Amino acid sequence: MIFAIASGKGGTGKTTVSASLATLWENDVTAVDLDVEEPNLHLFLNPEITGTEKGYVTVPEADEERCVKCGACRDICQFKAITLMAGTLLVFPEMCHGCGGCMAVCPEKALIPGRRELGEIVRGRSGNMEFLMGRLRIGEAMAPPLMRQVKERMGFIATGDVIIDAPPGVSCPAMNAVMDADAVVLVTEPTPFGFHDFKLAWEAFSPLGIPMGAVINRAGLGDSTVQNFCKEKGIPIWAEIPYDRAIAEAYSQGRVIADAVPGLRDTFLKLKEHMVAAAEENDMLGVFRA
Ligand code: SF4
Ligand code: SF4
Repeated sequence: MIFAIASGKGGTGKTTVSASLATLWENDVTAVDLDVEEPNLHLFLNPEITGTEKGYVTVPEADEERCVKCGACRDICQFKAITLMAGTLLVFPEMCHGCGGCMAVCPEKALIPGRRELGEIVRGRSGNMEFLMGRLRIGEAMAPPLMRQVKERMGFIATGDVIIDAPPGVSCPAMNAVMDADAVVLVTEPTPFGFHDFKLAWEAFSPLGIPMGAVINRAGLGDSTVQNFCKEKGIPIWAEIPYDRAIAEAYSQGRVIADAVPGLRDTFLKLKEHMVAAAEENDMLGVFRA
């Protein structure tokens, strides 16, 4: 089963929750850091790195001698990554999404596949846990193509459950990370900003029809607006992690809080039970619906 740990905004403790879950998971597990713009799950899990490869996207390269300036490539590119200006064909590889449309429609075969580096895909191991991470190249704007490549590797190497540390927010990368999950954990904190972004995330992910539950981090810090919202919308609260100095210290030292702070292991084991039960129930409902 695939579990995505998401949040409406950064800094809520999403990676802390991911690391704790991955560490206490008893079955085979693959921890996947899909927060490719700012991956940091490895800092907590300390995997032994077993391989690194580059990820690329295919972009067109123009053969000026063959090009008859017909404009078909420009017309099909919805990202304005290729154009004609004063009779000159211009390609903007950084804007290209690698769909291949321009190369397919060029009547003169004047566009040949080149490539742009997206970043790297890192594989590792920590005890019985497989580890996978995408890291976007500095200056690269498009996270989803690299995320897709990480997910492809995930399909090959994951033999058991998968825990995805998703990017924060509700934009394309976050959607891309949660869309294949069997259950989503939405991590938030009881502050006005936390509530605002939690609500956005819940509204954005709800149409996917994936079971979701909340984890309230730093519980006791603010007020009960998040809890009240969850009650009103029927969102189960799967765990509350207290606002506690010992947790902040463990986090600052790069330690996994489920291991470092007494009592938290049980909190995370119960969270795991909720996640698995929600995913299994959804799976059963799917069978009945079919
Ligand atoms: S590959 Fe797709 S996105 Fe890239 S330039 Fe061609 S049509 Fe545009
Ligand atoms: S479709 Fe081919 S021939 Fe036409 S402008 Fe583009 S590169 Fe040139």
